[in-house]
Amino acid sequence: MARRPRRVLSVASECAPLLKTGGLADVVGALPAALAPLGWRSRILMPAYRGLLEQVGRSRRVWRDDDLFGGPAAVRSASYRGLDLLLLDAPHLFDRPGGPYTVDGHDHPDNHVRFAALSWVGARIAMHGTVDRWRPDLVHAHDWQAGLVPSYLAYAGSEVPTLLTIHNIAFQGVFGPDQLDRLRLPTWDFHPEALEYHGLVSTLKAGMVHASRVTTVSPTYAEELATPEFGFGLEGVVASRRDRGEMVGILNGIDTSVWDPATDPHVVPFSASAPGAKAENRRALLAEFGLDEPNGPLAVVVTRLTHQKGVDLLLEALPAFVEAGGAVVVLGSGDAGYEYGLGELAARYPRSVGLRLGYDEPLSHRMYAGGDLVLVPSRFEPCGLTQLYGLRYGALPVVASTGGLRDTVADATPERLADGSATGFAFGDPTQGGAIDAGGLGFALGRAVDLYADRDAWLRLRARAMRAPVDWSTSATRYAELFAELVR
Ligand code: ADP
Repeated sequence: MARRPRRVLSVASECAPLLKTGGLADVVGALPAALAPLGWRSRILMPAYRGLLEQVGRSRRVWRDDDLFGGPAAVRSASYRGLDLLLLDAPHLFDRPGGPYTVDGHDHPDNHVRFAALSWVGARIAMHGTVDRWRPDLVHAHDWQAGLVPSYLAYAGSEVPTLLTIHNIAFQGVFGPDQLDRLRLPTWDFHPEALEYHGLVSTLKAGMVHASRVTTVSPTYAEELATPEFGFGLEGVVASRRDRGEMVGILNGIDTSVWDPATDPHVVPFSASAPGAKAENRRALLAEFGLDEPNGPLAVVVTRLTHQKGVDLLLEALPAFVEAGGAVVVLGSGDAGYEYGLGELAARYPRSVGLRLGYDEPLSHRMYAGGDLVLVPSRFEPCGLTQLYGLRYGALPVVASTGGLRDTVADATPERLADGSATGFAFGDPTQGGAIDAGGLGFALGRAVDLYADRDAWLRLRARAMRAPVDWSTSATRYAELFAELVR
């Protein structure tokens, strides 16, 4: 007899294609379709930021509260591009100018309240269900914004199992203990084994302590997180859960219904077996940015412009790459200093360096399709998606050997080129005594320029990269197995 599909409530601060600032949204938006064939139906609870209710169109109220942390709130159910959404409509928290987390470059001052409210509602729905009598078998909480879901459930004595996924441990949801009452958290649990974190409270830590299980988004990042260099103060909690077998890394995949060069409406279609039109996409990208046809490879960069992403390493290494015949197109936004530095680079090499500051999803597709290389020199990278898009679209990744970058890109060493297992270029492998610095990046770029000159070798490597398994099939199965273990 067929069993009824199991239900998972996914709680997150963003979800593509509705609202995205980074990889978290891609993952939250892609998992439901990957889990459905495995018997898991997902509903996604996220905030109704300004304009989202209008964007989704018809919605229906399925939950209400007259006083959700200082104002009335409702949850509205809507479906959007195949996603089953629960939108938390709390105008006093989410209907305001700015992005989901910041306004005019500063955090919203009440972010801890806003996302505690999201978590509170997630926990209520898990325990009591919605008015349409929907109750999850399991809650999947994402990052610090949903970190308090497991805690609220634990304090209410609920036994609904919870999984916390850490997409980036650098963001921890930290606030002062004077706020505990306001967030309906018990002061008696403010101690190092629970809510306390270096004298403050961290919602991410709370989730890591209270969730039934913890995952992160790649096996290497899971290992790195147990070290002081990568754990950002939470390495002890990571180590203790890992040692008990309660924390693992599961790689992200990409949503191939959106990210497939053969069907992507933003590009001239091509594929691993018929890659001809890749050249057209390349020409169009060069033309769009007014760049000359380079002798060497055309590299693309799509990123938040932050220290984590190694933008300073790019600024240092790119002049030599351009002098060696390469060209670059950069799309990103973030720290003003990096925006300025990239502007200077583009001004210095107007025919070889293109720059677009801002966030532009269609352009990102055209860049992966037109690029020969995608550069990802991150200092740390939980999983990283841009290198996966690069693989799929035949823009060979040049990556720092860390986190998910290390798990998904096979460096083009002579041996791997010979046996056909290479898919890109990596530098700074710490286990080989390497460091993630501009010298390492420059060396990797030099190898890419050299290989590009050998047309046949390049095309073989590219075909191999485009066939690398980057979709969700393997990882969704791992999530489904973990879910099943938790509800048993
Ligand atoms: P992170 O989540 O740390 O920013 P990921 O590599 O996991 O890094 O995910 C980044 C996602 O955001 C990718 O889908 C990438 O294409 C997209 N992205 C980043 N910056 C931009 C931008 N300026 N315009 C369009 N898409 C962007």
